[in-house]
Amino acid sequence: MAASFLTVLTDFEKQSLGERQPLPERYLGLPDEEMAERIALARATLGARLVILGHHYQRDEVIRFADYTGDSFRLARQISQHPEAGVIVFCGVHFMAESADVLAADHQQVILPDLAAGCSMADMAAPDQLETCWEELQQMGVRDVVPVTYINSAASIKAFVGEQGGTVCTSSNAAASLRWAFERGGKILFLPDQHLGRNTAYKMGIPLDEMVVWDPDAIFGGLDPDEVQRARMILWKGHCSVHTRFTAAQIEALRRAHPGIRVIVHPEVPWDVVQAADDSGSTEYIIRQVKQSPAGSAWAVGTEIHLVNRLAHELRETHTVLSLDQMGCLCSTMFRVSPNHLLWILEELVEGRVHNRIQVPAEQKHWNRVALDRMLSIR
Ligand code: SF4
Repeated sequence: MAASFLTVLTDFEKQSLGERQPLPERYLGLPDEEMAERIALARATLGARLVILGHHYQRDEVIRFADYTGDSFRLARQISQHPEAGVIVFCGVHFMAESADVLAADHQQVILPDLAAGCSMADMAAPDQLETCWEELQQMGVRDVVPVTYINSAASIKAFVGEQGGTVCTSSNAAASLRWAFERGGKILFLPDQHLGRNTAYKMGIPLDEMVVWDPDAIFGGLDPDEVQRARMILWKGHCSVHTRFTAAQIEALRRAHPGIRVIVHPEVPWDVVQAADDSGSTEYIIRQVKQSPAGSAWAVGTEIHLVNRLAHELRETHTVLSLDQMGCLCSTMFRVSPNHLLWILEELVEGRVHNRIQVPAEQKHWNRVALDRMLSIR
C-alpha cells in the first residue's frame, strides 16, 4: 500500500527529477482493455490528489482519462483551480508541461508521461539565437521592440521575453497579445511561429509589406537595417511541421469534390491557406464554430488529425467533418504519449514513485511567471 502521498512526493524530490526513464518492459504489449481498466483504477486510487490535463491533439486512448481537455491556454488556466492536487499529469508536449510547472504552486509536481514528447516548432528558437537576435537588433538601431513568444516555446525563451517586457500568447489570444504589445512599442518580435504571427497581424490590418522574417541562422537575421526599421512585425523563421502540410491546392480540391463545404484552419498554417479558407482560429475556436453550425453542415478542418477525427465522430449524426489533408496530419511528438506511458506513470504514483517530472530551473521561473501572468491578464 502506498505511503502518504504528499510525504512520498517530498521524499522523491531527491530523485527522478527530469531524467528520462525508459518505459519498463512489463508495460509493453498490454491489451487495450487491460490498460484502460488499470488506468481507471490507478486514477480512482489517486483521487483528488491528481489532475490529468489532455491537449486536443492527444490520442483517444489517452485523452479519455483527462479531467480537462483543451488547448494550451485553457489547460494553463486549470492549474490554479486545483490546489488540492499534488500532481498534475500533462498529456501534451514538453513546453506545455514547463508552463504548467511555472504556474503550479510549490507543493505541486508536473509530470510529462514521455519526456520525448517535444515540439519541433519550439525547438526552432534556441535561447542563444534569441540573445543574438536581440543584440543585433540593438546594433541595427532598432529599439522600440516588444517580444511576444507563442506558448509553443521553451521556458528559457519565455524567461527572456518576460525579462525584456514582453508576453506569451496562445493561438486563442494572439490578437489580444499583439494589441497589448503595440500599446507598449512600435514593433513586435514574434517567435517562434512566423505563420501565427503573420496571420494574426494581417487579420488585424497590418499589411504583409510591414512584416519581415528573421532568419536565426543568418547574420542580422538575413535582413538589412532599413527593412527592419520599416517593419512593424519581425517574424521568427519557425513553423509547425504539421500545420505547414496544409495547402491552398488541398482546399481547391476539396471544394471541387464537396461543393458548399466550409473550410476552417488553424492559424499555424501558411498565409495563403488562411486566405483560401473560409475561417481560421485556435483549436477551441474551430471546435466551437463547427459545433455551433447548423445540422447538415459540411466542414473541412485544417489542424491535427486527432482533433478532427474526434470532432467528426462526435458530430457524425448531424455534420460532415473531414480532414483537409486526406493523407493525415499527425503530430508525431504528441503521439508519443501513449496509454502505456500513462498507465506506468499512474501506477508508479500509486506506489509513491514520481517519474518524468518537469521542473523549470529556478533562475528561469521568475521571468517565465511574469510573462505567463501577463498573458493570463490580457483580455
Ligand atoms: S502540432 Fe506542431 S506546434 Fe503543435 S506540438 Fe505538434 S509540432 Fe508542435
